Amino acid sequence: MLSEKDQELVDAAREAIARRYRNDWQEVGAALRTRSGRIVTGVNLDAYLGRMAVCAEAVALGQMVTQLGEFGIDTIVAVRHPKPGEADRAIRIVSPCGACRELIFDYDRNARVIVPNGDGETVVPIGDLLPKKYSRERSL
Ligand SMILES: [Zn+2]
Repeated sequence: MLSEKDQELVDAAREAIARRYRNDWQEVGAALRTRSGRIVTGVNLDAYLGRMAVCAEAVALGQMVTQLGEFGIDTIVAVRHPKPGEADRAIRIVSPCGACRELIFDYDRNARVIVPNGDGETVVPIGDLLPKKYSRERSL
């Protein structure tokens, strides 16, 4: 069971992608709570040239930095909108991809991440999703 604040974050991510969904272009939404308690959202930017695509978490992070001038992540979550032909119409929580795990860790190594867990969801520290992360230092 998620806390009320975490559920509020999931709802914000769902609302973001429900509002901006476009098949093949915007299919994932993300929401993050900053260290000061404010919520920002983002949706992914897919691209004809696949390597130019940007994940929803990165867009939300960009919003946090650009719009709020904040840099710390309390909690972050991403959700995926189903495609038109999919029988399951639920907008479900998805785990951040490897690149986003790096990005989240870089901005806040104590960030909490809401991830799927069996039929439900759970909250884990970003470090648990990225053991032995790459570092130029040896001390991480
Ligand atoms: Zn990603």
